[in-house]
Amino acid sequence: MNNGRFLLAPRFWRFLTLSLVVATGGKGMSRAYAQGGPAVNPAPIAVAGPLLIQGGTIIDGTGAKRKKADVRVVDGVIREIGRLKPAKNERVINAEGLIVAPGFIDTHSHADGGLMENPDAESQIRQGITTAIVGQDGGSHLPLADFLDEVQAKHVALNIASFVGHGSVRSAVMGEDYKRAATAEEEAKMEALVEMEMQSGALGLSSGLEYDPGLYSTTEEVVDCAKIAAKYGGIYISHVRDEENEALTSFRELIDIADKARIPAQISHIKLGSSNVWGKADETLRLMADANKRGIDVTADVYPYTYWRSTITVITPTRDWTDRAAWQKGLDEVGGPANVLLSTYTPDAKWQGKTLEQIAQETGRDAVTIIQEIVKNTHGEGATGREGVVVTAMKEDDLRRFIASPGIMFCTDGGLGGSHPRAAGTYPRILGRYVREWHVLTLEDAIRKMTLLPAARMGFDDRGALIAGMKADIVLFDADKVIDTATTAEPMAAPIGLSYVIVNGVPVLDNGKMTGQRPGMALRRSWLAEK
Ligand SMILES: [Zn+2]
Repeated sequence: MNNGRFLLAPRFWRFLTLSLVVATGGKGMSRAYAQGGPAVNPAPIAVAGPLLIQGGTIIDGTGAKRKKADVRVVDGVIREIGRLKPAKNERVINAEGLIVAPGFIDTHSHADGGLMENPDAESQIRQGITTAIVGQDGGSHLPLADFLDEVQAKHVALNIASFVGHGSVRSAVMGEDYKRAATAEEEAKMEALVEMEMQSGALGLSSGLEYDPGLYSTTEEVVDCAKIAAKYGGIYISHVRDEENEALTSFRELIDIADKARIPAQISHIKLGSSNVWGKADETLRLMADANKRGIDVTADVYPYTYWRSTITVITPTRDWTDRAAWQKGLDEVGGPANVLLSTYTPDAKWQGKTLEQIAQETGRDAVTIIQEIVKNTHGEGATGREGVVVTAMKEDDLRRFIASPGIMFCTDGGLGGSHPRAAGTYPRILGRYVREWHVLTLEDAIRKMTLLPAARMGFDDRGALIAGMKADIVLFDADKVIDTATTAEPMAAPIGLSYVIVNGVPVLDNGKMTGQRPGMALRRSWLAEK
């Protein structure tokens, strides 16, 4: 089978990349899904029969205006685009009234958790995601070669690529003794592991500096690891040290790391998550633009919700959980206990699904006391309980500025299940609400930010655009109907308006029905292919 990247003339790719640079303003640029279950047997290798997608309106991912055209797919690759007549033995998909776009690339996905047990990844497929980029927030499968081989051998519905996680590498070297700076010897071991993972095809280095064990690393340690990723043409992607009061300081640290390691960098799920930084989206965008002017290549991804989901411990930066004043301050900064929804709480099912304000009212206790009990039961000595919170801590106006910004792409920050609706609703939400209802950006630009922009950023030179020679990752949807339906009460509710999702030329969603085909591939950083 032909490899699409060689079908696409290098000169044309340079043109595309150049267009992208111009387009980004010179920025170097209700149904619930099955979860868990027993491990499945490898599926038969999906067969990519020839397809003709006829009568649709193409939005090609480059930002160009839509046009009516047909798309021919042969051997998993886009063969031809134009006014086409069906060939013999070709399946015709009627795309009349539908938008035909490249498959969406999720630049911050947690689909690696449980993928082998849930390889159909229905909640990703149904929203049009054809490539999920995992190994985020500093956590990756180690060694990556085994994980990518397993993805390829077991067959999954969508393409998977991964970063090497700084936190995973740090844990492998420092074990339980991680609450300190690394020694020179430990750093050397970490760098060797990063090198090994880059050689296995990692897209770059991810970090989660707000979480254990990344929290305890110095900027210099991250710079040294990022330098190794840079050597292999990778990028640095980070859940920054603080997304609340010190968000801008944390973005500056990321820019500093990019500068010192000479590596392109991306802020993961960019947000301004406390009352002290609300309204600072323009200042944040200026910070990024200024860095780009100085030759430091900084971008970001964002999910379209004003609430985040994480563990309750991130409400305060302190690790002294007896400090009532610190908890109170943290609560004030997210706008109070009404903004904190306890979405997961295994020690007491009665509390799950309620806000801290509701629990306080029902129990007659104050919110800080309740937090401390939750933390004791889930993070204390010998605790076995689990917790998760959904916190409405961002402002819609800041979010809209990020969503409209030409160099910011989209991500779900979601897995195959979970209690935040972003995991099932992100892409249809952008298309239905931010494009159609609120006119925050055009459909052409939204598609570009879901496809070619992330493809270029992640180093995929054969995906992200509807151009002959590219791999046939294709989504068909109704621009007048597409919308998310997932909510915090029903976080896995399927979106509507998407009817076909084609991965490597094989329909995985076919006229609204999951086919059970699993044509996804493990994607490795393309420097490997260039060797
Ligand atoms: Zn994160």
